[in-house]
Amino acid sequence: MHPGTTRFLLSLFTAGLFAVNCQAQWQAPAYELWLRPDFDNQTVLAQASLTLRRGPQPEAELRLNAPDLEIHSASIDGITLSPEKLGGHWLIKLNPSLAARLELTLKLGYLARAGEGLVFGSDYAYTAFHTCRWLPCVGSDLGRASLRTTLELPAGFGSLASGVQVSMPPGSPQQQWFEAAPYPLYTLGFAAGRFTRVSQTAGDKTLHFVGVSDASAAALQAKFKTTPEMLAFFTDKAGLSLPHPSYSQLLLPGAVAQEMSSYAAIGRQMLDPILDNEQEDWVIAHELAHQWWGSWISCEAWSEFWLNEGITVFMTAAWKQQRWGQAAYQRELDIAARGWQRAKDANFDKPLSWPGDYPSLSLKRAIHYSKGALFMHALREDLGDEAFWAGFKRYSQSNAGRQVRAADLQAAMELAAGRNLQPLFDTWVYAAPNSQ
Ligand SMILES: [Zn+2]
Repeated sequence: MHPGTTRFLLSLFTAGLFAVNCQAQWQAPAYELWLRPDFDNQTVLAQASLTLRRGPQPEAELRLNAPDLEIHSASIDGITLSPEKLGGHWLIKLNPSLAARLELTLKLGYLARAGEGLVFGSDYAYTAFHTCRWLPCVGSDLGRASLRTTLELPAGFGSLASGVQVSMPPGSPQQQWFEAAPYPLYTLGFAAGRFTRVSQTAGDKTLHFVGVSDASAAALQAKFKTTPEMLAFFTDKAGLSLPHPSYSQLLLPGAVAQEMSSYAAIGRQMLDPILDNEQEDWVIAHELAHQWWGSWISCEAWSEFWLNEGITVFMTAAWKQQRWGQAAYQRELDIAARGWQRAKDANFDKPLSWPGDYPSLSLKRAIHYSKGALFMHALREDLGDEAFWAGFKRYSQSNAGRQVRAADLQAAMELAAGRNLQPLFDTWVYAAPNSQ
């Protein structure tokens, strides 16, 4: 299948249309989870400890944006609470003394069932994008939080989760991972299964290629062989080392393609074209690029989602230009141009940061992925390579670990260009070509 059609199966394309973006008073900057997957029943038994901080006013209601979790216990400081399921969330009412506290630790016991966002095979399980299907999210899924994940697994099962693996005593049935830096909730996740794992060093980083069930080490190595070169390319362009000491790519059945903090879940359908044509490496590049743009640097609002995806599509094209030549770069731009054309044909050509609702995923993708990538190319053409890449490095370095808006990119590019870029940004990003 032509990758131009394959690649639009990415699960993250659902982002934004279903996003909960409530202005919660309570925020959860830190989650700690203990998880026991049941591979026969396709469930995860969980205990969670959430650090909660409130806004300036006492707040007697706490919302968990996780309606599909079966919560069976909730407490704060030993005080039993009674969560109520109300439509799209769980509501926990707090007494006045708890409501007035600036910080609370909420303990939850719950069960998560297989479904969108929590996928089970016979001997593996993984999460993808819909974080609130397995983690009791507080606030927007654009919000950032740290995560400690402890997995209790059958003998012989391996794991992956956001952050770095924490060593446990020999013989422990538990495997633990810790993402210490706050990362967007949609990039937090875990996977477990009978893994085949191949590891190699790349500079001061370690790359892991991981497969489930019947994966062969030789096939993993062959499919992911260009990763070290990609890592060097993105590191150079970002002016920033990969944020974690290692990066894992988990190869799964199906067509998933999802960046998580410190790893990516990649479906075989997305990657296997590489066996026929080694230039079909876009999904490896796309998900690796997200370790900088989309995860470490993440959009502040869903209307700025193009800063995650447009930049990543562009950086995938830039990788291809460096590795496979100008024609490969142009081919990626042509695919993006066809994507953008869909929006034009539908008379729905919106500015990149347009805050309205899209009627379909296809049109949202056409703007955020395709037009976003073409805007980055237009910036490059306007500034010239030297100023463009200097501005891009400045944007990356000054926003690592932060949420961004278009103005952050504009500021970095203007400094590098030494001139005002408002007209260009107005044309592509802020103005409304077809006001609707
Ligand atoms: Zn993406």
